[in-house]
Amino acid sequence: MSEKLAIDGGKPVIERSEIKNWPIITDEDRKLVNEVLDSGIVSGGTAPQVTALEKEWATYTGAKYCLTTCSGTAALHMALAAVGVGPGDEVITSAFTFLASASCALHQNAIPVFVDIDPKTYCMDPSKLEAAITERTKAIIPVHIQGCPADMDPILQIAKKYNLYVIEDACQAHGALYKGRMVGTMGHVGAFSLNALKNLCGGEGGLYITDSEEFLNKGMLIRCFGDEIDEETHRRKYNASILGYMYRNQELPAALARAQLKRLDEYNAARIANAEYLTSELSKIPGVIPPYCPPDCKHVYFMYNVRFDPAAAGVECEPRRFRIAVEKALYKEGLLVGQWQTMPVPAQDIFQSKLGYGGTGYPWTINESKGIKYDYNPNQFPVTQMLCDTYTVIHGIHPPNGREQMEKYVAAFHKVFSQLGTALDHADDKIYPGFDGALYGVG
Ligand SMILES: *Cc1c(COP(=O)(O)O)cnc(C)c1O
Repeated sequence: MSEKLAIDGGKPVIERSEIKNWPIITDEDRKLVNEVLDSGIVSGGTAPQVTALEKEWATYTGAKYCLTTCSGTAALHMALAAVGVGPGDEVITSAFTFLASASCALHQNAIPVFVDIDPKTYCMDPSKLEAAITERTKAIIPVHIQGCPADMDPILQIAKKYNLYVIEDACQAHGALYKGRMVGTMGHVGAFSLNALKNLCGGEGGLYITDSEEFLNKGMLIRCFGDEIDEETHRRKYNASILGYMYRNQELPAALARAQLKRLDEYNAARIANAEYLTSELSKIPGVIPPYCPPDCKHVYFMYNVRFDPAAAGVECEPRRFRIAVEKALYKEGLLVGQWQTMPVPAQDIFQSKLGYGGTGYPWTINESKGIKYDYNPNQFPVTQMLCDTYTVIHGIHPPNGREQMEKYVAAFHKVFSQLGTALDHADDKIYPGFDGALYGVG
């Protein structure tokens, strides 16, 4: 007789207090941040900490140049502005991503176009990319989703064929490798986020990398109001030559990110060890589909995604309902499971309504006035929809969580999958899976 499920009044497998929060703050972090406070310099585009972080991130990734920014979204927008994307241009990205991969195009008055995903990696499916290209396409934003590198070779090949810019959204994939190449370094510009949840944490912030001197210089201008710097005095001229923004980072987040960077490889290795253990154990349970890492890649598991297949589990149930039932049962066992994106990005209201700037329909109206139609019908993204119906994220796979926690996560899966009938009986219970902000240092 198996133990009663927590959703049915039994004892949970794991307590919240056993799952450790992210980020890990050490004395090294305190020391570097305190040094900033003691230095009296807290801000500035060329201040010591941001400059040092730029050098260190360029060295880490192997990129020629790096600029720190105030967010990953800012780095993405800066990249589009730097390569010359403009009003009415189309920018292609993945249907399964965070909104910023697409809204950065809107920020540049360009129009996002979406491509469905590969059913194994959940990254943009390169075989569906060419069909999305038009004479208005200017750039492609592949996303290394949840830490898994996108299949860059065919994407780069198609980009070359059509003369398109490639901006890598590497916000979730610090240190991931695609066929030995660091993500972020394969396109024209790579963008990373330093927000608290990410594998490299500064609190908030972003990193913009490029091998192009032109995109470095353009990026620098755009980051700081488009304001020219005097070549002789190195002072700002207060004469903006192009349209820019205020996208600088600051000394305190940069110092924290620098301290964390020293331990990035160690932390990524711990994530990978946890993920590989989970995958080896969970793949033994019929109906559980662990994440996939392409054989020639390094996945850094920003998130650990599992999908559920009721037929494989021997249950007759609609896949979405099955996922909801299993998710609730696991959550009640104490696992911090829950969905991240719940729908393809193009299904979000902003794309359905296309209200745009000030409710004017801009920037879509630029091309729609010429008879070009933008259709964000979610049915065009069946793989993303299937994923959104059937996946959940197992949170808390970051260090210092280790084998002790992972074994309990696996035990909870075995417990729930041995009593799926009971779990399904509770599918409509008012239970709301997910994590609390403290898990990722978010208040
Ligand atoms: C986090 C994230 C961003 C944005 O980063 P911020 O620093 O939060 O602006 C962009 N794209 C993806 C895929 C992300 O996960």
